[in-house]
Amino acid sequence: MTVEEMIWDLSQLVENTDPASIQRTLASMVTEAERIRDTYHGKIGGLHAEGLLKLLELKDTFTLTFEGAAMYCSLLYAADSTCDVAKQLNDAARRASMQVGQALAFIDLEVGTLLAENRALVTDPVLAEYQHYLEMILRRVPHMLSETAEQLTIVKDKNGIRAWQQLQGDWLSTRAFDIEVEGETRTLPYGKLIGFYQSSDRNLRRRANQVVYEGLGRDEILWASALRAVCADHLQMCALRKYPTPMTQSLIANDVDQQTIDSLMATIEKNVGLYRRYLRLKATLMGLPHLANYDVVAPLLHVPEKDYSWPQSRKAVVEAYRGFDEEMGAWADEMFEKRHIDGEVRTGKRSGAFCASWLAGKSAYVLQSFNERMGDVYTQAHELGHAVHAYIASRAQKPSNCEVGSCIAECGSIFGELLLTEQLLSKAETTAERQAILANVLDEFGMAAFQVSARVFFEQSLYAAIEQGAFLDGDTVAALWTAARDKIYGDTVTWLDVMKWEWTMKPHYYLSNYRFYNYPYVFAQLFVFALYRLYQEQGAAFVPKLKRLLAAGSSKSPRALGAELGFDITSVAFWEKGMKQAEVFINMLEETLH
Ligand SMILES: [Zn+2]
Repeated sequence: MTVEEMIWDLSQLVENTDPASIQRTLASMVTEAERIRDTYHGKIGGLHAEGLLKLLELKDTFTLTFEGAAMYCSLLYAADSTCDVAKQLNDAARRASMQVGQALAFIDLEVGTLLAENRALVTDPVLAEYQHYLEMILRRVPHMLSETAEQLTIVKDKNGIRAWQQLQGDWLSTRAFDIEVEGETRTLPYGKLIGFYQSSDRNLRRRANQVVYEGLGRDEILWASALRAVCADHLQMCALRKYPTPMTQSLIANDVDQQTIDSLMATIEKNVGLYRRYLRLKATLMGLPHLANYDVVAPLLHVPEKDYSWPQSRKAVVEAYRGFDEEMGAWADEMFEKRHIDGEVRTGKRSGAFCASWLAGKSAYVLQSFNERMGDVYTQAHELGHAVHAYIASRAQKPSNCEVGSCIAECGSIFGELLLTEQLLSKAETTAERQAILANVLDEFGMAAFQVSARVFFEQSLYAAIEQGAFLDGDTVAALWTAARDKIYGDTVTWLDVMKWEWTMKPHYYLSNYRFYNYPYVFAQLFVFALYRLYQEQGAAFVPKLKRLLAAGSSKSPRALGAELGFDITSVAFWEKGMKQAEVFINMLEETLH
């Protein structure tokens, strides 16, 4: 294997990689956006169906024309933030995108007004391909403010509510903690400390949790203040925008309804016993009488880490997709063949992993740091699931219908992980290996479905407490946090006392205009487990169904997509199907003990 194979080839995104030529493309992108504004601003209200179609198609053509250049800049920077050319191009692309955003912001506002006055347009056959896109705009209309008020909101947030988010981020990135590592006391930044949470040294995991949360708890006055301000701002904006509940904004953004999310969360509550059963099993596998909070996502001690080379990983992942569907396997393989994956580990590269859809190329680009661990193979399968989703949706849909919301966006990726699990289990040679694979799947499931649910319950209880007139000081918030947590874990896990301050470090609670951001993770996890259950039941007959779901992109709501599969996602019965699959995995893990 050459290292070359692990480095992506971004040149395919642009006609010419000369920085000056890319800068020229970015400049013409802004000019074109301004031209669209000059043509349409103030005139959308007078459009008929054909005219509106022309505008929407023009917007899509715009996306396809300039997507490559903008992507080239941001991906070049993600791959190496120390490179001067990358820095300049990334800056230029961000500036240009912002200018485009400002120039074209009027479209949604004016289209919204047009639709509110002429609702028949939404179902006009001429606009059939854009129907759901228009429905989404229409759903936001009753909550829009005047153009001046919207501009004022942006200014208010910039100097007001966003400051809390900035402060929280700055605090975490500038704090240092004293901790004993290998017999020596060292002073380390937060980013290093959280790396110890996954250490195989149990005492180190405990110490890392202890010092971090002790440090965070010391500033509880600050965090409680911040949280009160964020909540109060949100409630104020809900009143101004006429949102009936604190969750409405998020429901609209995620294209779902209250009943669906209520059934989802009720299913979680009903099944905490199942998750606790897994946690007790994990304790047994780790040789512990009882799990502490720092063991919940820790690796199983007795399992040796198996190394996977890049070609081995490619083979396992491509075979996993191919076993499901030949075409999906071929797309996954093409990602390697065309060098659309950056796996090399290097300094200056963005940490974590992501997949960026490339609609014009009907493909995608994936970035990850491949360290030859099983986790890296899973990351690859996950990101390639996003890529396959992009391949199939970009072939079937207009760009406007490829903006898949968070509830559905993880369908290809989590499903891909389950296909890989099947593949790895079929090749596993030892019981320990089987246990590691199953525990990995169940840890992920437990985190996304249950741990994240505790955060949803916490956020719900915050607003309920405010409604009842409670003053949210640090201790009150901590009590709400531990109550939400205990609803999930019961007495299956022992918590360090300082873990009551865990809420203080979750960035999401401080983000402006981003309330209730957690439940889509729960949704996605359980939705895909339900799909996988269906695949187990129906075999090959299920394959075209999943492909149709992925090919729909954002042209249909999650509820409509579920209905096409014969599911009513507003019912608890549907979500139980996902739980059933989790139970199958837990049973398999339990069997390894006999
Ligand atoms: Zn993902």
